[in-house]
Amino acid sequence: MPTLTLADWQQRTRELRIEGRAFIQGEYVDAIGGGRFDCVSPIDGRTLATIASCDAADAERAVASARTSFESGVWSKLAPAKRKAVMIRFAELIEANREELALLETLDMGKPISDSLLVDVPAAARSLRWSGEAIDKLYDEVATTPHDQLGLVTREPVGVVAAIVPWNFPLLMACWKLGPALSAGNSVVLKPSEKSPLTAIRVAGLALEAGIPAGVLNVLPGYGHTVGKALGLHLDVDTLVFTGSTRVARQLMVYAGESNMKRVWLEAGGKSPNIVFADAPDLQAAARAAAGAIAFNQGEVCTAGSRLLVERSIKERFLPLVVEALKEWRPGNPLDPATNVGALVDAQQLATVLSYIQVGHEEGASLMLGGQRVLEDTGGIYVEPTIFDGVSNAMKIAREEIFGPVLSVIEFETPEEAIAIANDTPYGLAAALWTADLSKAHRTARALRAGSVWINQYDGGDMTAPFGGYKQSGNGRDKSLHAFDKYTELKATWIQL
Ligand code: NAD
Repeated sequence: MPTLTLADWQQRTRELRIEGRAFIQGEYVDAIGGGRFDCVSPIDGRTLATIASCDAADAERAVASARTSFESGVWSKLAPAKRKAVMIRFAELIEANREELALLETLDMGKPISDSLLVDVPAAARSLRWSGEAIDKLYDEVATTPHDQLGLVTREPVGVVAAIVPWNFPLLMACWKLGPALSAGNSVVLKPSEKSPLTAIRVAGLALEAGIPAGVLNVLPGYGHTVGKALGLHLDVDTLVFTGSTRVARQLMVYAGESNMKRVWLEAGGKSPNIVFADAPDLQAAARAAAGAIAFNQGEVCTAGSRLLVERSIKERFLPLVVEALKEWRPGNPLDPATNVGALVDAQQLATVLSYIQVGHEEGASLMLGGQRVLEDTGGIYVEPTIFDGVSNAMKIAREEIFGPVLSVIEFETPEEAIAIANDTPYGLAAALWTADLSKAHRTARALRAGSVWINQYDGGDMTAPFGGYKQSGNGRDKSLHAFDKYTELKATWIQL
């Protein structure tokens, strides 16, 4: 396959036909109230499309469609092997349309086209395929009952699943939910972020083409406080799965308590520590990983390594390596395949990131790199990767999730101190550590209160291992067979023999 150039992607952008309507009962439809909002590209400020602004009336219609399809059994009672075949076809269609999906993702939220094409879209397809392939290999249980009884422990789909997802990995986060939710036989109402609805809208049509029956997957673009809230409070939604901020995650728990106690599964924010011990096996590799951990996806990553904990004895040697490595990450036009840092998602996110940079100055941290908005003449939203040294863990820039490429460097002297600083956060999504000492690596990994721990690497993972958070980073897990726990109920059936 020839590599597409910047000019090719620009040409394709001009030819692109963007669907902005909701998808309900197998059809693209306008919002019932007729509302629409502009979808603006952060690359250059251009309006890409107008999008249906769904609200409670649309939620009503989509949930009813999901319920009817679920109760009909057209998908929920299909043999697992047949659902598997459809899910694999769905994954194949995503792969077949990867260039269009990658372009939509990049235009919509500003990430580099090379990442959309080589990371997000393939990982989204893998997620659907992996869950689909698993579903006819998951056996139920026979309980260890007394001799005169038979006890069956079976898994059943929960019913109607509402999935609310964020803008930083729009397609991938949607597919982490859709893979196990659909494979398990549920019907789904998916609400993408108002900041990045395009790929979710597009894949709804691909799902239908793959053979997922009308009503089983519905997509409602719109705002959180309208259609998102309506799903959160809906009495006929059985399970709500979410990826997004801790603030909204908390609100969703309230909605569930105020309505029908729907199950609520949350993947929320992070402030992940990346600990570099003096005996790290390769300081160059650690520096490159530390740079990637804050610059990849413009730092708009829930697992961003935003707190770099460095042992005092190597700091003077190590920090210049990190600065040099981060200089390799330069903002540029996201449609250029050579770009590794794209645009921030919108002007609001830029204002948030710049305000944290200002706070860093005011708190007395010292700026080592970056700190400025750049490429303003493009009309787009770009900020330089930024490093603050001399940060204490009590500072606001070390405590709050910035969700931009801003790295805080914090010193420590002993492993105990490193662990105490690492765990001194309301979050618990991920952590990394670098050491050549096997025992220290395991001792530290055990002490870290985080759902993923990386040793001598940053951000490893695939569909084989669960992903999710401790503490206020959420509950439950995406990926792996554990993800099916969110989308199934366990039933115990007792038979007198
Ligand atoms: P957000 O919480 O602002 O929005 C997420 C989704 O919730 C959007 O679809 C939004 O419209 C919706 N929403 C907002 N208010 C709502 C309400 N009152 N009721 C129902 N829905 C509502 O998050 P974001 O800014 O889109 O994404 C960034 C956040 O996502 C960061 O905190 C990041 O850490 C987190 N995130 C977590 C993971 C993870 O797996 N743990 C992965 C990616 C992103």
